Amino acid sequence: MCGITGYIGYRDAFPIIINGLKRLEYRGYDSAGVVLYDGNQINLSKTKGKVSDLLKKFDSDTSKVGNLGIGHTRWATHGEPNDINSHPHTSQSGNLVLVHNGIIENYNSIKQELIGRGYSFQSDTDTEVLVNFIEEIKIQNNVKLGKAVQIALNQVVGAYAIAVFDIDKPDEIIVAKLGSPIAIGVGKDLEEFFIASDASPFIEYTRNAIYLEDGEMAIIKKRREVIVKKIDDDTNVDAKVQELQMNLGEIEKNGYEHFMLKEIHEQPRAITDTFRGRLLPEEGIIKISGLENNMKRFLNAERIIIVACGTSWHAGLVAEYIFEEFVRIPVEVEYASEFRYRNPIITERDLVIAISQSGETADTLAAIKLAKSKGAFVFGVCNVVGSSIARENDSGVYTHAGPEIGVASTKAFTTQITVLTLMALRLARAKGTMTSADYRMYLQEMERIPAKVEKVLEMDAKVEEIARKYLLSTNCLYLGRGYNFPVALEGALKLKEISYIHAEGYPAAEMKHGPIALIDDRMPVVVIATSRGHYDKVVSNIQEIKSRSGKIIAVVTEGDTVVRDIADHVIEIPDTEEALSPLLTTIPLQLLSYYIAVMRNCNVDQPRNLAKSVTVE
Ligand code: GLU
Repeated sequence: MCGITGYIGYRDAFPIIINGLKRLEYRGYDSAGVVLYDGNQINLSKTKGKVSDLLKKFDSDTSKVGNLGIGHTRWATHGEPNDINSHPHTSQSGNLVLVHNGIIENYNSIKQELIGRGYSFQSDTDTEVLVNFIEEIKIQNNVKLGKAVQIALNQVVGAYAIAVFDIDKPDEIIVAKLGSPIAIGVGKDLEEFFIASDASPFIEYTRNAIYLEDGEMAIIKKRREVIVKKIDDDTNVDAKVQELQMNLGEIEKNGYEHFMLKEIHEQPRAITDTFRGRLLPEEGIIKISGLENNMKRFLNAERIIIVACGTSWHAGLVAEYIFEEFVRIPVEVEYASEFRYRNPIITERDLVIAISQSGETADTLAAIKLAKSKGAFVFGVCNVVGSSIARENDSGVYTHAGPEIGVASTKAFTTQITVLTLMALRLARAKGTMTSADYRMYLQEMERIPAKVEKVLEMDAKVEEIARKYLLSTNCLYLGRGYNFPVALEGALKLKEISYIHAEGYPAAEMKHGPIALIDDRMPVVVIATSRGHYDKVVSNIQEIKSRSGKIIAVVTEGDTVVRDIADHVIEIPDTEEALSPLLTTIPLQLLSYYIAVMRNCNVDQPRNLAKSVTVE
């Protein structure tokens, strides 16, 4: 994973690189480093910890001067997070400096070969091997840095985005990409260039960006040009400069204490943006161009296989219930990491839906490639425009949730469910598996969802109060049935990942087959008990918890009186169709985990050991 930033031009590189790294910390944050070239020499500082720790180090002992530099915020794969393993890494001569996102899988054989040639290594990383490999090739072949990078990368197995420069020729930076993203910001009159894992670090400087494709490298020459080439055959590529749509407000906290809270509160807007131009209840129309253009493939599909990881997998589970109910088509939901390694049976009559917020999830990307190789049609649901998955799919749809920076996914989840529900409704209509009255009713109800989410968000203070009572819990159980079973899983995941409290999501009725043994008077149990979803059965499950002294936090429909009498706490949400209820029930669970984590002094936006987009398998 990790974030890369870089600058070459006429401004001070330091603030651009540091601010860029802060915006990229969602990608990894166990160590950070920056190297600057000041016209004579390099100044390099790196440290275990966050960008804020690096900043302190620079403040006390490293020069910040230079118009050229590269930086890195790491999510360790090879070697523990310590100062030495942090990037940038320099070659043995000290001439080449490199940052890397990804994994060099054959690093060990290259390392042994280099050791045989007299190289020694300070760190445990695959990255230090790569920078020395490039140096060795450069010396042996007497070639320029760009050529050496190209020869080296043709022998490397794995995934990478790299930025590297040579202090003997400090007027160019070389970048390359395979599997991990890299964007080049193109400044006015080609006077400056920016490098970053996504465009957020340079959005205030330029709106023009080149996104390298897999297997491409670029030679970025100071105040002159960018030359893009294919790594395998050295041919020049006519790189497209794209205009960025993102704006600065979207990637700042806008007065919220954390990105996660901001993103929770953004959900009414994010869901509306997902609808925009697609949901037209007046006309009775749903229009998703990626779906319309491939309607035949969808209608002829004998089965839908959904592949995803983490929260996106939970959105896939909700979609399974919705597609089977609305479209009457069998759906299987698979963890991408399992799917890709178990020789799954896929045929040309299968339709695969791949879901990923970042569009960079390594396992999901590999699952897509596998499904395509077996002839299946692959449809992607992504948030990040132009991401690898968006490019790899046969067709797809963007969720348009806006940048999600908090590592714990919130608005990505609800917008994924929104788009998948729209798809299911459109297909139900095309297939004739839903009456036109129901179809119209769902369209109108969908349109009301953002206002209802807004109403759930008004419970914020109440949820905070409940959170205070359970902040010292060590375990928590989440129960739901039907459409709300995946919401229970998602609620438990949210609590685990940001508060480090062990939590499990379970189908409410399954509780009797095991987890009920855990219930005692210290165990909070969050139960989704909305009025339309097998309500009586869930009420019985709540009674069973009560009889064993468990503490019950229930999410109920407005006006509920039955559960109110049994539960310790109730959170009321507006009534809606059962199939749409996950869009509402998930909100209080997001808030609950948020407040518990804040009260436990956890780093909500950057929980330990995690990173936002999992670009390694
Ligand atoms: N494999 C490299 C390392 O462990 C890079 C990891 C990353 O993408 O941050 O240092």
